[in-house]
Amino acid sequence: MSNSVDEKETEKEVVSRNFIENIIDKDISDGNCKKVITRFPPEPNGYLHIGHAKSIVLNSGIAKEYGGIFHLRFDDTNPVKEDMEFVESIIEDVKWICGDLDTDHIYYASEYFDTMYECAIKLIKKDKAYVCDLSADEIKQYRGTLKEPGKPSPYRDRTIEENLDLFERMCAGEFEDGSKVLRAKIDMASPNMNMRDPVLYRIARITHHNLGDKWCIYPMYDFAHPIEDAIEGISHSLCTLEFEDHRPLYDWVVHELEFENPPKQIEFAKLYLTNVVTGKRYIKKLVDNGTVDGWDDPRLVTIAALRRRGFTPESIRNFITLSGISKAQSSSDYAMLEYCIREDLKLKRPRMMAVLDPVKLIITNYPENEMEYLDVDNNQENKAMGTRKVPFGRELYIDREDFMINPPKKYFRLYPGNEVRLMNAYFVKCTDYKTDEWGNVTEIYCTYDPETKSGSGFTGRKVKGTIHWVCAETAERAEVRLYENIVDEEKGVYNEDGEVNLNPNSLTVLKNCYIEPALAEAKPKDSFQFVRHGYFCVDLKDTKKGHLVFNRIVSLKSSYKLKD
Ligand code: ATP
Ligand code: MG
Repeated sequence: MSNSVDEKETEKEVVSRNFIENIIDKDISDGNCKKVITRFPPEPNGYLHIGHAKSIVLNSGIAKEYGGIFHLRFDDTNPVKEDMEFVESIIEDVKWICGDLDTDHIYYASEYFDTMYECAIKLIKKDKAYVCDLSADEIKQYRGTLKEPGKPSPYRDRTIEENLDLFERMCAGEFEDGSKVLRAKIDMASPNMNMRDPVLYRIARITHHNLGDKWCIYPMYDFAHPIEDAIEGISHSLCTLEFEDHRPLYDWVVHELEFENPPKQIEFAKLYLTNVVTGKRYIKKLVDNGTVDGWDDPRLVTIAALRRRGFTPESIRNFITLSGISKAQSSSDYAMLEYCIREDLKLKRPRMMAVLDPVKLIITNYPENEMEYLDVDNNQENKAMGTRKVPFGRELYIDREDFMINPPKKYFRLYPGNEVRLMNAYFVKCTDYKTDEWGNVTEIYCTYDPETKSGSGFTGRKVKGTIHWVCAETAERAEVRLYENIVDEEKGVYNEDGEVNLNPNSLTVLKNCYIEPALAEAKPKDSFQFVRHGYFCVDLKDTKKGHLVFNRIVSLKSSYKLKD
């Protein structure tokens, strides 16, 4: 389905069943599935990104829906690129997205190496696997092409005894890396290239992060994965479309190994985001060359970055649901993710006043050395959130863009002679202003009308503009970071050299912002609406005692339209 859905269609989408649920429903009613068990099988070789979230949400959601079990399984069978740092970050990310993770169901594929070895022996004994001495290049040549069948390896007819002996010696470390492999004996003429005697095991003297130097042979993905699923009793192995051509091999492995209740592989389309960098390789480059501040830079779409930026797990789950589960490849809009976070925070977060680009406003007829505390709703659309006291006094800060000396037509904010409402407070009328030698406004002078206090029921006259403010005496300082897409959308994500086309304005740092005193107690990861500016989250990395840093999660204005 497309990524733009109207609201009615969205509701329908949520209640209607996707093609995977239809398959599972049938398996259950046919008596072919007693318990639904799914898994998310990341390789611990990098941070998870929004694409992985689709697989997590889908797999954990299916398990929950059918009263089944969801496994997090580290696919750590390829020791070259794996790292413990990634294991920990992945656990944290999966926990966060799911809201919870049963740690009894975290698995490591490397713990199955003994079983995989036994599986290989079983295939050899059934004359379904053989040791082959061809080099990698020769294997490729013998494999043939899509148009021509392959040729059998000269080692294909080794006896079972010879194969057992050679395989055991491969495992014992008698042979050089790359000098021999174990291959499945299937069909060198199969129209599916994956079935032309694929390699099952290779010799590689690499230290494994979990097992050290215990093994010098390692299983290939297409052999290891179905065995991992079968050992864990996975009922439905959900993977992305590129594995469709591998399914016959998956089925062959679980069939020849005679697993009871073998798992069923089902493929779905990956999540792609338009104009967004998701490739691990590209993100790593941006991290390594210092373009971004680590894997969790809020401009990225790793899970760690989205969390730091202030996205909620609910918004991500909702986004995945809205983008749909199907076999058709499509690309979703980042604006839809923004729509989901706005919707999630709208009624849950307090709406506070913050001035990002301050200029002083002085109310000349307000008594000197006096202050008052105004009662303000925390969220006008959700009265259950209560009220707070907001200090008000003679000197305030307002945002620079809310005042103009020579306004254009239809500018309803403050300018000399004009009257506006100060949000939650009084009407003020601009009587004068002061500029520095370059013409920048340094102070704005107003008078206020005490009759016009918010909530007083004043109906005497109306004003067209309402602006926000903070009281100068009690305001707290804060740093605010505004983000745009890191990609230059006009140029597209990558240039001819495979580099990311960077948007030079992707980060704006405002160091001199003023916030309501009620915000001074905010803690890392807390989020708020700053009225008229958007939703903001306290940065968890750079916030220090006495130095609050806010990341803008999303502005209030939507460029995303739910289509009608
Ligand atoms: P990448 O290369 O994009 O970083 P990967 O596929 O190499 O990702 P894995 O650790 O192998 O990373 O992925 C774990 C699981 O997440 C796999 O089952 C994979 O199919 C799934 N997955 C990865 N990217 C996406 C995506 N964009 N949409 C949906 N599922 C995905
Ligand atoms: Mg992968």
